[in-house]
Amino acid sequence: MSLLTKSSFWTFHGGVHPECHKAMSTQRAIQTLPLPKQLIIPVQQHIGSPAELLVTVGDTVFKGQPIATMASQQLGATIHAPSSGTIEAIKKHNIPHPSALDGLCVVLRLDGDDDWGDYQPIAYADLDQYTNKQLLARIETAGLVGLGGAAFPSFVKLKNSSKKGIETLIINAAECEPYISCDDMLMRERADEIVKGLQVLLRLLQPTRCLIGIEDNKPEAIVAIKKATTPFDNVAVCAIPTLYPSGGEKQLIKILTNKEVPDGGIPFDIGMLCHNIATVYSLYNAVIKGEPLLSRVVTVTGDGVKQPQNIETLIGTPVSDLIKQAGGYTEKAQRLIMGGPMMGFTLPHDAIPVVKASNCFLIASVSALQQTKSPHALQAQMPCIRCGKCMVACPVNLLPQQLYWHTQAKDFEKVVAHHLSSCIECGCCDFVCPSHIPLVSYFRFAKSELRSQQLTLEKANISRERHEFQEFRRQREKEERAEKRLKHKAALQRKKASAKGKNPKADAIKAAMVRANAKKVARAAEAKANSVIKKNPQDEAKGES
Ligand code: SF4
Ligand code: SF4
Repeated sequence: MSLLTKSSFWTFHGGVHPECHKAMSTQRAIQTLPLPKQLIIPVQQHIGSPAELLVTVGDTVFKGQPIATMASQQLGATIHAPSSGTIEAIKKHNIPHPSALDGLCVVLRLDGDDDWGDYQPIAYADLDQYTNKQLLARIETAGLVGLGGAAFPSFVKLKNSSKKGIETLIINAAECEPYISCDDMLMRERADEIVKGLQVLLRLLQPTRCLIGIEDNKPEAIVAIKKATTPFDNVAVCAIPTLYPSGGEKQLIKILTNKEVPDGGIPFDIGMLCHNIATVYSLYNAVIKGEPLLSRVVTVTGDGVKQPQNIETLIGTPVSDLIKQAGGYTEKAQRLIMGGPMMGFTLPHDAIPVVKASNCFLIASVSALQQTKSPHALQAQMPCIRCGKCMVACPVNLLPQQLYWHTQAKDFEKVVAHHLSSCIECGCCDFVCPSHIPLVSYFRFAKSELRSQQLTLEKANISRERHEFQEFRRQREKEERAEKRLKHKAALQRKKASAKGKNPKADAIKAAMVRANAKKVARAAEAKANSVIKKNPQDEAKGES
């Protein structure tokens, strides 16, 4: 094990230095929330499709029992009952999402017993007795997703990478966004469990080296992880300089390796895989303890709560319960944000449940948000003065002011040409803009417009292809009818000829020619049909239905 020094690192373009405000939530150990009375569990808490329900209203469930799962081949993760109780309702409810739309949720009334169903821990020392396939099956069954915010199903990420192998495993423990400290506290308090989870990853992926990136404003965490990784020769703890957004996947890879993930690509394209440190901890729970992803550590912080702290809470717990645990609201509470002040989004109320991707709830006054130059402060917008500060700060080398002008003009072709899809919505441009232009909000609007345009285009393509197939089918039926008529005519002629006693040999040749002609027509029709079916087999099915 080696501790890389600051001089060993590279840097990315841009970035900013917001005040971190992390110390306010790291004064207490991680608290555990008492069992709530009710949990509201969304069936979509991951990238991909919503999970399909396995329960109905009135069912009793054990802790850890799957209540919704994915059809095979679909991207997603299983959802489990975080405690034992009765399914009270299955209904639409506000979920934590930037769209503020409702999502389907399972409402679970807890019985207070917290009874586990069937689960099978394994001894850490016996890890080598299990095949990769068995370990991956435990990860899939546990419904793990990336806990850094993206909520990408971990099983899918690991299955693909373990097949082909990777050169460098990156563990993202930078936690660069202000106020958030859940990963910091997890590393301080549960480093041994994290390293056991890391051992599972190393077993599955067999990387040449593993780099754990931690911002240097977390000295206790660095010491704890360094101590716990001492036995591993190919693992290096990297105390990287504090600079927002060093926790961005591509930015962290650049800092640690000086390599760049190609535009539109993923780390795997350059032989790397990135996992968040909290995900590594949940890997330990899933593989060694046999526990599905039922809870997570969440930061509840800001000048809007009396006792900012980190709380281990069940998925589905209403945010109001967390705020109660943190001493309740102060008179300064003006905004409720899920995530941090730079990348988080505002929640309309506190009855919204905790989901797998919830790392922080920030309850803050507008003045505190202004101090952090957060876009949530919603300061009066002024005209762009073309100062170019946003361009200097952008970690992806974009031209935010150009993107802003083209978005305002709804010129989405130019927005695409200026690589909007590469924008990671980090908020650095908002942070530096002297005109308080909510640039990220404009970019989110442009992205949603482009998505809906894409959907409209896809629907139009499907209709066009369906119409083309119907036309083809009409033509094929016409040709088949013509062929039948020809055959019928030939049969009639043969019948007439034999009745009149004409030359049977000449008639046989004529009849053979008619048959050959009919076959030729049939082959031509079949060849045409095959070419269309090969071109678009799915539409054939749609057309037939
Ligand atoms: S920082 Fe703001 S004012 Fe300056 S160029 Fe960018 S958008 Fe315009
Ligand atoms: S939000 Fe997008 S455009 Fe703005 S700095 Fe971040 S990556 Fe660049």
